[in-house]
Amino acid sequence: MTDHLTGKTDSHIIQSSHFQKALHSQVETPLKKLQLKAKEAGFDLQVISGFRSYEAQLSIWNGKANGKRPLLDSNNTPLDISTLSPKEIVSAILKWSAIPGASRHHWGTDIDIYDANAIPAEGYAIQLTPAEVAPNGIFGKFHSWLDQIIANGESEGFFRPYDQDRGGVAPEKWHLSFAPLAKQYLEKYTLALFEQIVAQSKTSLKEVLLRDVDHYYRQYVANVRS
Ligand SMILES: [Zn+2]
Repeated sequence: MTDHLTGKTDSHIIQSSHFQKALHSQVETPLKKLQLKAKEAGFDLQVISGFRSYEAQLSIWNGKANGKRPLLDSNNTPLDISTLSPKEIVSAILKWSAIPGASRHHWGTDIDIYDANAIPAEGYAIQLTPAEVAPNGIFGKFHSWLDQIIANGESEGFFRPYDQDRGGVAPEKWHLSFAPLAKQYLEKYTLALFEQIVAQSKTSLKEVLLRDVDHYYRQYVANVRS
């Protein structure tokens, strides 16, 4: 069970041929139901990112910490990491990326979605940015519809953990979570587990995280819509 929380196993994960992504075995069926509702409203709900392993998250984190991947501020402007302190680098990474072992994508209950009907025919690289999901953005109509479905309690158990700025992770309208499982997982994801996973890891700048472990747990793990 602990391994399910930290991306170190995929025994709870299936490869969904329908969505062409790896998901928790209990998520595919409710997601198909939500997809059908979207279809009736004229949208083609697809998954761009599902389950992510611990190693994959470690590679994202360390790439950003070491300057091998772009590090973006909350307006999606690239930052020059040579001008930042280790603590500032950590805060910048955490706007858009989770600490390895502490991503909700490890659970398989959380997905990033888009409306395939909104993609222009000539091809478009989906970026998952605030501009794309803003009311006048390419996925604006899809997310307005989803706002309503969630507000009406008709979203088949899916909700947005990062629906607004809580001072931790930036708002991510595209990130959905399957509440019946994810809420149980979050309850089991204790501060002690978080500290252990960070301490034992090869995470770059982990000394910054461990120095203020309680803060990072509260602000970036526990600080979601409940
Ligand atoms: Zn996500």
